[in-house]
Amino acid sequence: MVEIKTDAAMEAMREAGRVVANALAAAREAAGVGVRLRELDEAAREVLEAAGAGSPFLGYRPSFAPTPFPAVICASVNDAVVHGIPGGQRLRDGDLVSVDCGAKLDGWTGDAAISFVVGTPRPGDEELIAATHRALDAGIAAAVVGHRMGDISHAISTVAREARCGMPADFGGHGIGRQMHEDPHVPNFGRPGRGYPLRHGLTLAIEPMLMAGGRNDYRTDPDGWTLRTTDGSRAAHVEHTVAITEDGPRVLTLP
Ligand code: MG
Ligand code: MG
Repeated sequence: MVEIKTDAAMEAMREAGRVVANALAAAREAAGVGVRLRELDEAAREVLEAAGAGSPFLGYRPSFAPTPFPAVICASVNDAVVHGIPGGQRLRDGDLVSVDCGAKLDGWTGDAAISFVVGTPRPGDEELIAATHRALDAGIAAAVVGHRMGDISHAISTVAREARCGMPADFGGHGIGRQMHEDPHVPNFGRPGRGYPLRHGLTLAIEPMLMAGGRNDYRTDPDGWTLRTTDGSRAAHVEHTVAITEDGPRVLTLP
């Protein structure tokens, strides 16, 4: 069931989104050569706690997962696309890191992700990240009243195709509000003019995941969580929580 949000609910989600942005900034600030992924998680956790926010990630267990998620961020490095668990792994020079974080504040949720390079970028990585941002921007630009879900999906997949990047076929964005994952699904592939009609008060997490090798398949690590490219190519993932309004798309996960 899709819940259309009141303007007050969207304002509350903006506050949750601000916490997410601050937590992501703290995780990025903590990142560096030799730093363990769990230190990024600790940095984000401190921001959530200071804001009085909960984590929709911690303890989350969707149907595909063998264990509850043990952290407040996902940290996915190099060929990991999404859902990486931030453990004892140390970052190395040139690593491409995607950090995903959520926050729940006063009953409302925000969800966003960033990708960045630690140290000296390898050839192609900054272009991959830039293309992923273009895909997100295109998806957000299509998130307007009167469009349909397929317009967002098509905008994202068009950018990915032009960049010769693949995207994991079964994963995309989602409705968001009281829960992190709500209806409707926001596919990263789709046909313009098709799908769920976009209207004022619909709040969506839009999240392109681009894989440099150009394939759309993926594999899952033995941990049951981490998604990786099958060809070992690198991946980037960026996400914003967006409210569709009569005044146009409003990004809720900005600082
Ligand atoms: Mg996310
Ligand atoms: Mg999400």
